[in-house]
Amino acid sequence: MAGTGIFTEILDGEVYKFYADGEWRTSSSGKSVAIVNPATRKTQYKVQACTQEEVNKVMGMAKSAQKSWAKTPLWKRAELLHKAAAILKDNKAPIAESLVKEIAKPAKDSVTEVVRSGDLISYCAEEGVRILGEGKFLLSDSFPGNERTKYCLTSKIPLGVVLAIPPFNYPVNLAVSKIAPALIAGNSLVLKPPTQGAVSCLHMVHCFHLAGFPKGLISCITGKGSEIGDFLTMHPAVNCISFTGGDTGISISKKAGMIPLQMELGGKDACIVLEDADLDLVASNIIKGGFSYSGQRCTAVKVVLVMESVADELVEKVKAKVAKLTVGPPEENCDITAVVSESSANFIEGLVMDAKEKGATFCQEYKREGNLIWPLLLDNVRPDMRIAWEEPFGPVLPVLRISSVDEGINHCNASNFGLQGCVFTKDINKAMLISDAMETGTVQINSAPARGPDHFPFQGLKDSGIGSQGVTNSINLMTKVKTTVINLPTPSYSMG
Ligand code: NAP
Repeated sequence: MAGTGIFTEILDGEVYKFYADGEWRTSSSGKSVAIVNPATRKTQYKVQACTQEEVNKVMGMAKSAQKSWAKTPLWKRAELLHKAAAILKDNKAPIAESLVKEIAKPAKDSVTEVVRSGDLISYCAEEGVRILGEGKFLLSDSFPGNERTKYCLTSKIPLGVVLAIPPFNYPVNLAVSKIAPALIAGNSLVLKPPTQGAVSCLHMVHCFHLAGFPKGLISCITGKGSEIGDFLTMHPAVNCISFTGGDTGISISKKAGMIPLQMELGGKDACIVLEDADLDLVASNIIKGGFSYSGQRCTAVKVVLVMESVADELVEKVKAKVAKLTVGPPEENCDITAVVSESSANFIEGLVMDAKEKGATFCQEYKREGNLIWPLLLDNVRPDMRIAWEEPFGPVLPVLRISSVDEGINHCNASNFGLQGCVFTKDINKAMLISDAMETGTVQINSAPARGPDHFPFQGLKDSGIGSQGVTNSINLMTKVKTTVINLPTPSYSMG
């Protein structure tokens, strides 16, 4: 159970502590932030509302702990990460339970998130050992006008303090996807978890604590992003920000100083369906892509663009599958669970009502109880409807009927987002041309968009992001190249 057994020390009465200097602490603010269970709409947990003073202290510790961590042998850093991964996986049950209660993620998927996170940490440790153990050796005489008088040695060095801010929908997985690359590369790490998801993150951080990382190297500051976020992201001690979330990331990018940014933001992933597509395959991918975790995934299918000639058949197939989705509590592994908050449910409802006023065809009756919204397929959506462009982050999926492939590509490219997209066709040549034409970070051919496997590069174009994720790319982003040049008095050619 959350907050018990090995996790007892992270709880102070009914409020979870924050983590600083290798210890679990109560904030001097005397204030806490409530975490509301999306399904019951009652306060489930409380976390500390940390102060600016506490942030300053944590940053100071992170700076000094990083100096000695960077001198810790790479194999030792990897060993500690493997240990943390094992502890995390051994304790998946209480962490998954917090995910169920904080973000209403179905129980089975919550366990999967924790296990996947352990695997990601281990993979990162292994990849780090490989890629950080290698550098480059360059010779000067390959550049015109030079003799072989200079030997250039390159290696990757850490940036310093990495600030990690994950979103509510994968709080554990998207936190470790930042923590593990930062640590293996020799950085220290300050985590600001999402409020919904903070308790799961605190449990995860305790697994790193138990693994025995040095004091001050990892910290976890809790509090509302709207209150403490600016202070954290504009803190002079921060050398890199890795953020995943919505438009907040755009404003952080404008305010952050001259530091590397990794931004994974929103999306409006399009699913383009051609006339020759296997419609059963498309329908099951639309269900998986559009309705898993109630559509609250950055890579959810968020608009279907289907050729008119096959639209009726596809819509019927999807409708039949929507009818089979179960709706209810996350504890019972229902397919559709409450969305994260009342404001989120209200926003989704606004998009649905706009589509209704403008004449979209409702394939199911619109139904909502509290934060629980029944799955809804909207057919005959037109570009003048908000749902054609905006990200509902809920179980509502629009279908736009198109009369040419170009119309589909143009709709996709007119979006301010460019995260992922997918195309369904049996013609690989057409698929490749469409993939090239779509302005998105990734295009999936004959499958729904997805972030994993976690070592694949993952990036958004336009308002969907800056930089690229995926284990290798994250490690590279959290390092800088350092070179040493050996200058010889005379050219040297060791050719025997
Ligand atoms: P969000 O509202 O942008 O919040 C993300 C994180 O930012 C949370 O930890 C939040 O803390 C924090 N935050 C809020 N205000 C801040 C500020 N001023 N400064 C610094 N941090 C601040 O996003 P969300 O609702 O959690 O997640 C949903 C969004 O994330 C969707 O748009 C989705 O598409 C996107 N997403 C993208 C990816 C991707 O990889 N591209 C993956 C998953 C989700 P609080 O919770 O305390 O407010």
